[in-house]
Amino acid sequence: MSTSFRERHVAIVGGGLVGILAVLYFAKRGWAVSLFELREDLRVQGNKKNILHRSINLALSARGLSALKNATHGLDEKVLEFAIPMKGRMIHSGEGKLKSQPYGVFGECIYSVEREILLELLLNTAAKFMNVKMYFQHQLKRCDFDIGKLEFENKKTGKQVEYSADLIIGADGAFSTVRTQIMRTVRMDYSQEYISHAYLELIVPPKVNDNGEEEFAMDPNHLHIWPLHSFMMIALPNRNKSFTCTLFMPFEKFDAIKTEDDLMEFFKKYFPDSIPLLGEDRLKKEYFRNPKGSLMSVKCKPYHYKDRAIIIGDAAHSMVPFYGQGMNCGFQDVEILDGIFEEYNISAVRNDDKLALALEEYTRRRYPDAISICDLAMYNYIEMRSSVINPWYLLRRQVEGTLYRLFPRGVIPLYTMISFSTMRYSEAMQRWQRQGFWLNMIGLPLLTAGAAASIWIGYCQFRRVYPWVMNYLSSHLHSNLVSIYLCLLSY
Ligand SMILES: Cc1cc2nc3c(=O)[nH]c(=O)nc-3n(C[C@H](O)[C@H](O)[C@H](O)COP(=O)(O)OP(=O)(O)OC[C@H]3O[C@@H](n4cnc5c(N)ncnc54)[C@H](O)[C@@H]3O)c2cc1C
Repeated sequence: MSTSFRERHVAIVGGGLVGILAVLYFAKRGWAVSLFELREDLRVQGNKKNILHRSINLALSARGLSALKNATHGLDEKVLEFAIPMKGRMIHSGEGKLKSQPYGVFGECIYSVEREILLELLLNTAAKFMNVKMYFQHQLKRCDFDIGKLEFENKKTGKQVEYSADLIIGADGAFSTVRTQIMRTVRMDYSQEYISHAYLELIVPPKVNDNGEEEFAMDPNHLHIWPLHSFMMIALPNRNKSFTCTLFMPFEKFDAIKTEDDLMEFFKKYFPDSIPLLGEDRLKKEYFRNPKGSLMSVKCKPYHYKDRAIIIGDAAHSMVPFYGQGMNCGFQDVEILDGIFEEYNISAVRNDDKLALALEEYTRRRYPDAISICDLAMYNYIEMRSSVINPWYLLRRQVEGTLYRLFPRGVIPLYTMISFSTMRYSEAMQRWQRQGFWLNMIGLPLLTAGAAASIWIGYCQFRRVYPWVMNYLSSHLHSNLVSIYLCLLSY
């Protein structure tokens, strides 16, 4: 056991949303924190354009809010000041028909937040801690975990620089270098799956009303969806009264649109009501200018190496974005890691050696949850692009919602468990499967009995109103059935 009592030093690699939140938690615990980020500082004028190349806005829900709240006092409230509540999905039929589907039965909502604002707020909060240093334009190249050495390339000077730390946290996203470095040392199980769909972002600008004021072109308190079974478009509101639309569809469909005419034909066929919102000229410009992003799911285990390194956020579990949980789950990683540090009494000074156990516990506890949400995120793509217009799905939703209202502890809709609670993802998934089983076991016989009863009642009514039809049918049907029977016997 070490006898020195100097401040412990954590190096957090990756200054995305999850990495900066981790900075706040470790700074609060009194560790000496160094954040290393590949890109430039977003807060410096003129850098935003280069940094924010993807998903302009994100859906923030209960897990993310809880982690923000416990990071520093009132951080969740500050974020909510900039957020727009979305109380449900607005389903667009394409021809302009709209149908609202509330997310929660008690009026719960998720929030649309802009990545830029959230990043800036987190960075400004981190900068207030005396024990935090931030290094931008530093790209991690290699680590030697056993001696706590990190090698970076300083992108500004082009020089190699070295730093040392007691603990290295990899929050460096889906293509994590820290993860790759851990894989060289540990027998890590790893899988990566690209889906065949890509995404492209478009903007619905604010509309100008009769008084010359800008306003939202659609209801801002909904997440808008144009579901088309095998592909879809969604739109989330921004504070400047615009919407960010994301078109998700197979690469081949994107590739098939080669000219402006192809594009307009495609939009007229599938998303006609969106054309006036997007604006024909703007749509043509943005469609061919904006990048198409690919989507993938990453699963791996373990997340840690001894008491030396751990990966969190997309570095540990990148998921497809259809449950709006990537960031929320990453934020919850940080909160859970902090809770485990508390349980294991890990202090900011080098006076114990339970850190390895704490990191091991983190992998043990978090892995089943990360796997569950990665799988649920895949499942939710089908729900968003197709099930939302399927009568059976809508019936189950209705039944679950009613039962939840009556027995809030007994039956909880999946969406509520994932987005409006901090329940473990794995528990939510198991509960949902159990609920599905019982709904089928009880619901199907009930539905069959109900259908049989309605047919019988209809039949009795018909017999009462048209007795002559029944007499005719029964005599003919009877003789026909007898002849079929005789025929079968002779055969
Ligand atoms: C289209 C789309 C929509 C989404 N919508 C939602 C949503 O609605 N809700 C939600 O919760 N999530 C959503 N997500 C997921 C969310 O964006 C991610 O889960 C989240 O950004 C992960 O944060 P992170 O900090 O772990 O990784 P990242 O945001 O990827 O940050 C990683 C950081 O590490 C830096 N870095 C990388 N390599 C190095 C290196 N070698 N050295 C130093 N720095 C490095 C990068 O520059 C980056 O800043 C969406 C994702 C997409 C693609």
